Amino acid sequence: MQEYSPEQALWEIRREFGEHGGVAPSISRSSTFTVMDPNIMPDIFKGVRGPHKGGYFLYSRHFNPTVETLSREIAAMDNTEAAVSTASGMSAIACTLMQLCKQGDHIVSSNTVYGGTHALFDQLFPEMGITTTFADPGDPQTFEEAINPQTRVLYTETVGNPTLRIADIPALAEIARRHNLKLVVDNTFTPMLITPSLLGADVVVYSLTKFVNGASDVIAGAICGTEAFMLELMDLHKGRAMLLGPTMDARVAFDIQQRLPHLATRMKEHSRRALAIAQHLENLKLKVNYPGLPSHPQHKLIDAISNKGYGYGGILTIDCGTSDLANVMLSNLQNKERFGLIAVSLGYFDTLMSVSSASTSSEISDEDQKKMGLSPGLIRLSIGITGDLDARLEQIERAAKEAGLV
Ligand code: PLP
Repeated sequence: MQEYSPEQALWEIRREFGEHGGVAPSISRSSTFTVMDPNIMPDIFKGVRGPHKGGYFLYSRHFNPTVETLSREIAAMDNTEAAVSTASGMSAIACTLMQLCKQGDHIVSSNTVYGGTHALFDQLFPEMGITTTFADPGDPQTFEEAINPQTRVLYTETVGNPTLRIADIPALAEIARRHNLKLVVDNTFTPMLITPSLLGADVVVYSLTKFVNGASDVIAGAICGTEAFMLELMDLHKGRAMLLGPTMDARVAFDIQQRLPHLATRMKEHSRRALAIAQHLENLKLKVNYPGLPSHPQHKLIDAISNKGYGYGGILTIDCGTSDLANVMLSNLQNKERFGLIAVSLGYFDTLMSVSSASTSSEISDEDQKKMGLSPGLIRLSIGITGDLDARLEQIERAAKEAGLV
């Protein structure tokens, strides 16, 4: 386990905040910014001055003070030099890959990624001349075998959605180094638990929509990496995050900033409850998958790559065998037991539940779902932090019994 403390890193940078003595940050909603001396304006356009060079702002699609403060906090949490906040997780992923890959380039991606990412790589990017080969993130050898002279990027999720396959990030980073490629890691499932930059990732992307915000009321994303890469993304001539316009609103940045201070507490509680529920389900002989269980095939790997004290995350899956049984189980859990809510997404303070093959992975063909080990009866649960835990254990046991799973 790593000794790095994302909580402490976040606190260190947050202490810098305190303008006008307010305990909460301010929202800077201006779309454009004045300069006192007109000679300064050309310097901002040339990149000689800017938020990082003298504190100059130009226009909020470029940089905005509130969004920039959030970005600096996310970068501190992730131990990277800098970050750019975006309007969604998908725009963070798309802009990163479009910055790193041009027409004719090739990506090797984990085969167990969010359905939207899979569609981007498998269906949209080929129309732009960027191709992808899918490989097993738990078996880095398969990544190395898929590399060709056009490959520019290795891409993986830390914990694959929804198979919970753990990526061997140190081994993937070593392969990326050797072949002069960039390793991009989507850490959406495991903020604070895992710090991919410490393990060798070059760029870390997030859907902040999930655990980081934690309230299921905004769509947002972030890209973390070197200062040079952030400036490239924001370049006025070729920056994908500048010219494609996936701008985060300052009010959204403020909302997320107000929730970051309790992200560590929330992650620990999501993990504590998910582990208790997973253990209970395993004792009942259900087919439960959770990285915190010694029965998870990569339990030792997640132990080796995670930061101390945050547990194993809030996501677990139950394989009910068939989609019909999965639907009965979901109905019981929501409509009879009030255990959670049937909805896509994850990282909310209440439990969210969905059948992955028919929802967030439905963009992936049946054949590819089979290859990544996704069963049609698989339910993904994002375990919330509300209600009494003992009562929750009773609810899920009753729901499983009524569905005939136990
Ligand atoms: N990455 C992962 C792992 C996800 O689960 C999702 C959405 O479910 C995304 C990225 C996309 O994020 P957003 O919906 O914020 O665009």
